[in-house]
Amino acid sequence: MSKKKTAQLLESLNERIDKVQSSSEFKKVLRFFSKFHNYSYQNSMLILMQKPEASFVAGYRQWQKKFNRHVKKGEKGIAILAPFTYKKEIKKSNLNSDTDDQETEEVKRTYFNTVYVFDISQTEGEPVPQLDMELENTNQELINLLLDYATSQEIEVGFKSLSGGTDGYSRGGEIVIDENANETEQASILVHELAHEHLHFNSESNSLSLSKEIIEMEAEAVAFVVMDYFNIESKSDKYLALYKESYDLMESFKRINDVSSRILNYLLAAEENEESKEEINNK
Ligand SMILES: [Zn+2]
Repeated sequence: MSKKKTAQLLESLNERIDKVQSSSEFKKVLRFFSKFHNYSYQNSMLILMQKPEASFVAGYRQWQKKFNRHVKKGEKGIAILAPFTYKKEIKKSNLNSDTDDQETEEVKRTYFNTVYVFDISQTEGEPVPQLDMELENTNQELINLLLDYATSQEIEVGFKSLSGGTDGYSRGGEIVIDENANETEQASILVHELAHEHLHFNSESNSLSLSKEIIEMEAEAVAFVVMDYFNIESKSDKYLALYKESYDLMESFKRINDVSSRILNYLLAAEENEESKEEINNK
């Protein structure tokens, strides 16, 4: 995959995202999703560790107040850390003073308390505006090639029935994909999660402390580039429009290009291999 081609693709993706964002259908969706709080990198990691399939989380009362939904009975909260600040009077240490009436000073202190949040799949109530992310099943073979690729990278892939708008998730060496999605959708989900595996589960990414928006943008942009190669019309523009507040596709260009090339190179070599095997058999 040439860099130029990837750059062109990302540019056209950017234009499509802008178009999606200006549609009235999307504005309704965005109004809903923009009410979610952006969690810090540390808290995003805490959420991922406890509930890797979580997509949108909020506190117990926030679900009621902001979204008109409530947490289902028996659901377990996801523990995150919330900072609290308080003011405290402390005595100024005055070495020269030999009197008792020391001056005091007001200081701000911050401490962290455990609070619990819940994923959208743990709630019920007013319907959630849906983004139509369904893909026509136009390519049934790609998923198998991608599964081979995952094996070659020592990444385990499992299929489960997922709910609450989650298509798949990854957690470092392990990926889970919704078994109810069709093969084309599963391929697109798998590329997205593979991109997370390569880009977001290593020390380099830890040190970058990327926001959730950037993490999701990078993964979905890789899915877009790979799917486009196989002429699969993806819904990445809709997905990315959701997160487009604080990212710049081009800033992540190298990371997106590196991972999509890595995956595509494997897929193309595997395809070629298959073809030459067929040729030998036909001789
Ligand atoms: Zn993701």
